[in-house]
Amino acid sequence: MSGLVQLGGVPVAPVRPVPESGPMADGFGRRVEYLRISVTDKCNLRCVYCMPEEGLPWLRRDQILRYEEIAQVVRVMAGVGLRKVRITGGEPLVRRDLPALVRMIRAVPQIQDVSLSTNAVLLEEHADALRDAGVDRVNVSLDSLRPERIDAISRRPGSADAIFRGLAAAERAGFAPIKVNCVVMRGRNDDEVADFAAITRERPWHVRFIEVMPTGDNLGVSADEFVSADEMLQNVRTVGALEPVGGPAGNGPARYFAFPGAAGTVGVITPMSHNYCERCNRMRLTADGQLRPCLFGGLQTNLRDPLRRGEPLEPLIRHTLAIKPERHWLVQGSDTGSGGLRALSQVGG
Ligand code: SAM
Ligand code: SF4
Repeated sequence: MSGLVQLGGVPVAPVRPVPESGPMADGFGRRVEYLRISVTDKCNLRCVYCMPEEGLPWLRRDQILRYEEIAQVVRVMAGVGLRKVRITGGEPLVRRDLPALVRMIRAVPQIQDVSLSTNAVLLEEHADALRDAGVDRVNVSLDSLRPERIDAISRRPGSADAIFRGLAAAERAGFAPIKVNCVVMRGRNDDEVADFAAITRERPWHVRFIEVMPTGDNLGVSADEFVSADEMLQNVRTVGALEPVGGPAGNGPARYFAFPGAAGTVGVITPMSHNYCERCNRMRLTADGQLRPCLFGGLQTNLRDPLRRGEPLEPLIRHTLAIKPERHWLVQGSDTGSGGLRALSQVGG
C-alpha cells in the first residue's frame, strides 16, 4: 500500500483484518482512541537515556507537519473514534506558538482530553497560555530532585532551576493531575526513588518511575543501568506500606500505588519487566507525519505526503491499525526490536 515505510530491516508485521468502518480497532480487537503527537524532533536537553550529546540529524522544516496538517489528521481520526491527544516531542515547547495547535485540536468536538509531555524547562513562560488554550494535564519529566544530578542527566547545566520553576507554574496554572515521570537508572538516581515517593504524601503529584528502554543511542545506559520496577517498588516500601490504587485520570500503562491518606500516588511503568501491550489503546504521529502503530518496531505509514496531495487518510489509518503488532519485541541492552530508532525523541516517547 502506498505510504507504508519499513525502517531498520524489521520483518513486515502480518496484516490482520480490522473493521473497515466505525471506531478504530486493531487486528487484536484493541480499540484505539488515543494519539500521541510529536510536534518536533528537537530538544533543549540531552538526557543520557534519550538523545546523544551532539544531537541527531534534525528533520528539515518542510518535512515537519504544519499545525493545520496535524489538526487535519486529528479531525479525520476523531471521526473514527479518537478521543484523547497527547502533545509530545522532542521537547514540544521548543516549537513556536504551541497554544495555536492546542486551540485547533480543542476545536475538534470529539476530543475530550488534551495533555502535554514536557521537560518543563520552558513551562514557566508558557503554562498559562497552554492552560487557556485548553491543555488539561501535563506530564513533566524529572529524573532527580537534586539540581546537580538534573544537570548531569540532562547534560544541560543550569536546567534544574527552570524545571522547578516550570513545575511550580504548572501547579499555579491549575493543571491536574500533574504526573512526574522519572526514568530510574542505577548509580544515577536509583537512590532517590524513596525521596520522590515521600513527596506524594504531601503533594498531589503522581510520580511514575519508568524502566529505561533500549534504543540505538542508549545501549550503554539501558544495558548497565537498568533497574526493574519490582526493585523500585521495594525501595518505595521503605517509606511506608503501599496499597494498589486506580491512579489518576488518563492512566495508561502505569500501575499505581499510594501510601494511606497520601495526596498523590506512586506509579511504575514497566515496558521491560511486565509487558502491558495487551491494553494498548494508542498510535503515534511523528513530527514528519508518520503514523506509527507501536512506539517500537519498524512499521509506520506516511500520512504526510498523501495528506499534502489531498488524498483520503482513513484507508491509511485503517491499514496502520491492521499492521499494529501484538506487542513490542524490545530486548534489554540491545537495539533488536527498536526498529532502527536511535532515540525516543525521534518518535515522541
Ligand atoms: N521532552 C519531553 C519529556 O522529556 O517529557 C517529551 C518527550 S520524551 C521522549 C517523553 C518521555 O519519554 C519522557 O518521560 C522521557 O523521560 C521518556 N523517555 C525517553 N527516552 C526513554 C527511554 N529510553 N526509556 C524510558 N523512557 C524514556
Ligand atoms: Fe529531550 Fe525529553 Fe529526550 Fe530528555 S527525554 S532528551 S527532555 S526529548
